Amino acid sequence: MKNIKDYNLDELKQELVSLGEKPYRAEQIFNWLYIEKVKEFDEMTNISLELREKLKQNYTICNFEILRKQESSDGTKKYLFDILDGNAIETVLMQYHHGKTICVSSQIGCKMGCKFCASTGIAFVRNLTSGEIIEQILAVEQDIGEHISNIVFMGIGEPFDNYDNVMHAIRIINHQKGLNIGARHISISTSGLVPRIYDFANEELQCTLSISLHATTDEKRSKMMPVNNLYPLKELMQACRDYIAKTNKRISFEYALAKDNNDNLEDAKALVQLLHGMICHVNLIPINKIENGKFIKSSNENIIKFRDYLNDHGIVATIRRELGSDIDAACGQLRRKNLK
Ligand code: SAH
Repeated sequence: MKNIKDYNLDELKQELVSLGEKPYRAEQIFNWLYIEKVKEFDEMTNISLELREKLKQNYTICNFEILRKQESSDGTKKYLFDILDGNAIETVLMQYHHGKTICVSSQIGCKMGCKFCASTGIAFVRNLTSGEIIEQILAVEQDIGEHISNIVFMGIGEPFDNYDNVMHAIRIINHQKGLNIGARHISISTSGLVPRIYDFANEELQCTLSISLHATTDEKRSKMMPVNNLYPLKELMQACRDYIAKTNKRISFEYALAKDNNDNLEDAKALVQLLHGMICHVNLIPINKIENGKFIKSSNENIIKFRDYLNDHGIVATIRRELGSDIDAACGQLRRKNLK
């Protein structure tokens, strides 16, 4: 059955017209789904019983079931959702001073194969639909009874490898009659799929683009991230420069620091050179340990030295707080599960 959350407002209008209904019904349904956040067609009380029956026959409302919820000592919550097809995915809720942020998954598994990331350890299954991306937000909001202010596409999967569904989801999340979350409050992180960076520059969305950089030479980056063999640094950095020129927006570069791998002053120097003249921000992530992972977190001392070197040389850098690592909810620790 079709998931009613897979449609944007115009598409839903078309669906209703094809069911012999007036298009304004779509606005009412949208309102129930994204403003009232109901979980059943029967809760849509301004829709006739007859139409509700029709909707039930043609669509599911796709409510994920919470299989497990873990809470970290820092307040971060990790949800394991049954997504109703025999698979389960993880979604994380983080509490910052400025509000609540959800880290959503975009795929069941991931094809990128980054050596330091747990999401990649198990086989890729499929892309999430846009409705399944949105349902992660709705399910968490329903659970906590509060609104979410920020969304980051940093859960399981490579969002730019599921480009169309992710863009479709973002437009519903952003839509005034949808979840109405400002594009400036949405971030997308990519491992560096160069052609999609060019596409994204043309979307005219105010979302923040994050690039998982992690190294400054092809040799080192390819060892950490196989995607670098396909799109080496020169192409990636050119795409980033072109993105900035086209959109006039700052890029956020993620750099996970691993001991004796990419965390010494030579690396910091090379990073300053690589990013020279770009409007950007560097997000330093103390690398999180994963099962069988060979990378070890840098010492606090090195992390601070690295940050200070960047800041002293004109690159704004901050250290990402390590939220949720005690429940394996931190960067790179999310996994998919098979329920069958
Ligand atoms: N596939 C996308 C988004 C998912 S990961 C991407 O690669 O950007 C979000 C961020 O966490 C990425 O920057 C990723 O490289 C980083 N990450 C993955 N594993 C990590 C780990 N073990 N420690 C720290 N950061 C990690």
